[in-house]
Amino acid sequence: PARNGERLRAEGVTKDFGGVRALDGVSLRLEAGVIVGLIGPNGSGKTTLINALSGLERVDSGRLWIDGRTMTNARPDRIARAGLARSFQAAILPDDATALEAVAAARLPLDRRVEWAEAHARWALERLGVGALADRLCHGLPAALRRRVELARALARRPSVLLLDEPAAGLTDAEKAELAALLRALAADGMALLVVEHDMEFLLPLADRVLCLDRGRRLYDGAPDGVRRDAGVIAAYLGG
Ligand code: ADP
Repeated sequence: PARNGERLRAEGVTKDFGGVRALDGVSLRLEAGVIVGLIGPNGSGKTTLINALSGLERVDSGRLWIDGRTMTNARPDRIARAGLARSFQAAILPDDATALEAVAAARLPLDRRVEWAEAHARWALERLGVGALADRLCHGLPAALRRRVELARALARRPSVLLLDEPAAGLTDAEKAELAALLRALAADGMALLVVEHDMEFLLPLADRVLCLDRGRRLYDGAPDGVRRDAGVIAAYLGG
């Protein structure tokens, strides 16, 4: 069974691509109400890790649990049903759908009726402050609002674990501040968040903990305010 507050646990996750060891014994714990930042240079294994956690990539060794249930190399749909949702870096929304339809579509596999899927979709759009967009076509939406709708697609599944891939990319400072407040609110609701992000100005004030990968290994795991002072992180990632 899961320890108190633990939503996801990965232990000793290793993944090889041919001769490249993309992940080398990575362990990670995500807890309810806690935002973990995932950083590291390009090629350090961040994408492979979130793909492994969401079942898109099989691992060669190591173990994964969600809410205390073993999920090692489980299929993505089973992991999703266990409570994990994620957003993608370059989200594709169906242009000819309304925001409500786009979000409800993400929820349909869980619901037997369209009305139920739409009810969850409305809730998710409201929760993210874009309830008024429900009937707008995705096609015409500005980038920041499309991003909000994409996040609503993940949220509508009522996940206990949410993985976000570069959620702040392309946003203005004001939009980033709004997004940070929204993510804080989701954590306060009891969600466990893992946020992959290169934007340190956005991530460090947001995260409760930061994990830095380098060549598939854990280089740093600790408080955000230690990141900029860590010699290893500076040498491998932050530079200068
Ligand atoms: P990051 O997201 O931190 O930039 P990745 O997880 O994308 O890092 O990549 C980690 C390492 O695994 C890199 O060396 C990358 O080239 C390699 N890699 C990732 N995916 C594949 C793949 N599908 N086939 C071969 N090598 C891959």
